[in-house]
Parts: sequence; C-alpha cells; structure tokens
Amino acid sequence: MIHMLVRSAPDAIEKLAQLGDATRYEAAGVEPHSETHRPPRTEGRTGRPDAASVLVDCVSHVATPTGRKPILKAMITTACEKNCYYCPFRAGRSNTHRITFKPDEMARAFDTLQHSKIVDGIFLSSGIIRGGVTTQDKLIDTAEILRGKYQYRGYIHLKIMPGVEYDQLRRAMQLADRVSINLEGATAERLNALAPKKDFAGELLQPLLWAHQIREREGIRASTTTQFVVGAVGDTDLELLTTSERLYRQAGIQRAYYSHFEPVYNTPFENLPAVDARREFRLYQSSFLLRDYLWEIEDLPFLDDGNLPLDVDPKRFYADVYLRETPVDIIHASRHELLRVPGIGPRGADAILRARRLGHLSDLADLRAVGIRAPDRAAPYILFGGRKPLQQLALPGMDSTTTG
Ligand code: SF4
Repeated sequence: MIHMLVRSAPDAIEKLAQLGDATRYEAAGVEPHSETHRPPRTEGRTGRPDAASVLVDCVSHVATPTGRKPILKAMITTACEKNCYYCPFRAGRSNTHRITFKPDEMARAFDTLQHSKIVDGIFLSSGIIRGGVTTQDKLIDTAEILRGKYQYRGYIHLKIMPGVEYDQLRRAMQLADRVSINLEGATAERLNALAPKKDFAGELLQPLLWAHQIREREGIRASTTTQFVVGAVGDTDLELLTTSERLYRQAGIQRAYYSHFEPVYNTPFENLPAVDARREFRLYQSSFLLRDYLWEIEDLPFLDDGNLPLDVDPKRFYADVYLRETPVDIIHASRHELLRVPGIGPRGADAILRARRLGHLSDLADLRAVGIRAPDRAAPYILFGGRKPLQQLALPGMDSTTTG
C-alpha cells in the first residue's frame, strides 16, 4: 500500500512520515481519553517511509462529532520563530528536523491517504513563520483546497495561530468542524513564564471570544477548544479550572484540554520534572463537573496549595465529605442535587426525573432499570423517600477513578 502512496504523492507522503508524531502534544478529538496514545519520541525521522511509519506516527484514532475516526495529525511547518520554553519546535533548537509543506502539497497528501481509507479526517497545526496571520493563511488555504479542489466533506480541525485576524478566524470556522486556540497558560503571568512571545489577552483570549461571537451571530457551527500546558511553571489546578470555567461560560468552548508537562531535551525546561499524568486526569474529571454537572469552582476539593488530590475522584471526595451525613433523597432532589451523587451523570439524572414522575423508584434495582449503570456507587450517598437503599449491590469505593 505505502509504495503505491509514495508513487502517487511521493514527496508529501515521505515528508509526512518524517513529520512523525510531531503533533503528539496536541489534542485532536472530542474525548481526550479516547485518543490513542503512543510512546513519545523527540524527533521526526528521516529516510523513506514504510506503511507503519505513516500509519503509526501521523494517524491518531480520535472521537469526532460523527464517531471515532483515524485522523491525520500534521503540521504545515515544524519551523517556528517563537521560543516557547517547553516546545521541541522552538526557534533556535538546532537539532530539530524542520519540515515544511505547501498548502496544496499537504492537501494532496491528505487526499491520497483519505482515498486509500487510511485516514478520515485531518487535524492541522503549524509552527509560526512570518507571524500568525501569514501562517494562518496557509492553514486556511489548505482547508480551502480540501473543501474546493478535492471536494472533501469530512472532519477538519484547524489550529488557530496567535494573533489571528477576525476575518481569518471566521473563514477558518466556515471551513472547519472545529478550531483550537490554545491558551497554554491559565493566566497572562503563567503564559509569560511558558511562552514569552505570546500575548495572552490580545492574541489568544480575544480570538476565543470572537469565535463565540461568530457562532452566536452567524450561526456557524464550528466548535472551539483550548489546551493548557499543566504544571511546568507553578500553575495550580485552581487557576487552570477557574480559567476553564470562564471559557465554558463566556466563550462557549466545547472542551478544555490539559497536557501534563513533559520535559523536552535541549529546551530551557529540559531539567524540570515531568508532571504526574494523574493530575491531567483529575483536571479532566473536574472540568467535566464544571461543564456538564452544574458544579461551581467552589465545589471542587482543592487542597491548600490550590491543587486537587491526586488519589481520589473529585466527585467521590465531595460526596464523602458532604453527602454521607446528609444523603441526597432520590425522590425529592433537584437535578442539580442528583448530579452531586457519584454514579449519577446528566443522562442518569434526567432518567431519574422522568421515572420519578411515574412513581417508579424505590431502590437500587430501579435505578439500574432506568439506566444508572453502577447504582452501588451511589448507594452510600442516597435515600429513597427518607429510607436508605434496601439493597446494597456492592461495597462503595470500588472505583475511585471515574466521574459519574
Ligand atoms: S508557537 Fe510555541 S508552541 Fe507553537 S510551535 Fe512555535 S515554539 Fe512551539
């Protein structure tokens, strides 16, 4: 297969193979936990590609709005004039192999892979050369070619460059299903410590707000995501989640992604310690509570240092502190109160409210019957009309890793 691909789009496919897993730090899907992770490598490879190098390194299986798909994750260029302290593509990093595509070259390579059924979607990012506006034009040009010349109607996720112009963002949102504008730091101060050449308010936060305006005013459906680098510069979970909550409420972002810091050789941060991946996971759980469970930032169990406990699901932590003594009564509770209970998510809460109107709830088996998959997780924290559950299906605390 790969030899046919190399014959039909030789330079571009070879360059994609050299690009390798350059975008491994970028989240491309809807559900971050569903993205296939591979062991990290630090550099692109050289030489002729084989099938495994294209399939394994450039393609990630991610959840998209229309299901799980193999996505080509690629960069227009791995050259960059910025100097973000954590990044393998930063300016002046002499041993970084730089690869640059023309928009039509990238589009042709994608079309080849897409017609070969190797990929069904593209996430396109880039290093920055001659400013964010010029670089953004190249990303937009690539998407224009895909939608126009190649009549591609599938999934496109475009990265938005710092300093993008309003009209460019609008055009990107017309072409793409999703755009991502990565804040990187939770505050201007944190961003300055991570990436001193990026401007938090003007270049990054403003486009996130514009994207919301464009969706609201023009009915363009492209969603927005952002991403943070976690733990390199003293940022706390409280800061990260406070900013995330504001973006959910004020900028209508679909998802905040959290990327735990891992040091890259030959960067200013090469000697900083890697951040525990569990921190990233607790941030995702808490972020979902803020976005989908009507939680406020004050409800989350931050420790004195502003971080979440690593070893316990934040919802379980909250329930153990507040709900063991004052359980939630399934028969009378509001949706908001139901969503405090471990094992009950938004769909489960709605199912309980529906069943309650029909008077069908009296014990844990009834909860299971309406779709609560693990009612035993809820059992220690609930009542049925003032009564404790009649049967306890399993001991509590079987699963301390999931938010339900
Ligand atoms: S802008 Fe910063 S994070 Fe992006 S490629 Fe350049 S150096 Fe890396």
